[in-house]
Amino acid sequence: MSNTGSFAIPTQLRRAFGAARGFVNAALDLALPPLCAACREPVHGKGLCPACWSKLSFITRPYCERLGIPFVYDPGPGILSMQAIADPPAYHRARAAVRFDEISRALVHALKYGDRLDLAPMMGRWISHCGRELLAEADALVPVPLHWRRLWARRFNQSAALAAAISGESSVPVATGALKRIKATAQQVGLTQAERAANIQGAFRVPEDGKAEVAGRRLVLVDDVLTSGATAEGCARALLRAGAANVDVLVFARVADPGRTSI
Ligand SMILES: [Zn+2]
Repeated sequence: MSNTGSFAIPTQLRRAFGAARGFVNAALDLALPPLCAACREPVHGKGLCPACWSKLSFITRPYCERLGIPFVYDPGPGILSMQAIADPPAYHRARAAVRFDEISRALVHALKYGDRLDLAPMMGRWISHCGRELLAEADALVPVPLHWRRLWARRFNQSAALAAAISGESSVPVATGALKRIKATAQQVGLTQAERAANIQGAFRVPEDGKAEVAGRRLVLVDDVLTSGATAEGCARALLRAGAANVDVLVFARVADPGRTSI
């Protein structure tokens, strides 16, 4: 009896267990229909059940051409919101597919914390639709980066997953090395607008080897949610400092009244 023989058995066993686990997972996928990302009811397709779907609040015109915040009434073409005039952002335009509310929050959380990466193509499709004017003029997509430590813990970046989906819809490439998060910022949840801005200060940088992806180019920053705009502002400033010709912002959901709503 040789040593190689005794080592071969555990390897084969491991393979057998691996195959069995794969089979069980596949069987479970067949047996259990996918769940609605918002209410956890079984759904036939993927994503949302019809009831939750009907409650999603898609953002359509009229909205502020700069910030993409929906207007209650139509003030006429090209009119900007008071917020855009009083405190204009570094980025040029922002667009969001839906309002941030109970249903869109559930989708965002399922994608971000629930490992529901299967939602990204659907969300990316909606974002591509609302941002088609911005995408038509864009050279590249830039997902808002996570700090490497958070990426390590979560295993994926939800903004990168959305950017990949948008790229698939629009054929605009993703500039993967354009932006780095160099500061592990505290979670923005529960912070005031001023605290968010301070929290994000100096958090993003275009690395030396990412400058070619940025200089002179029209970029679209991609994130899941736009709340106070502090993250988008920090990213846009870093990209513009590195010579970007234009920075627009595309998100899945935006808080329609950043002064009052928190996430
Ligand atoms: Zn539902």
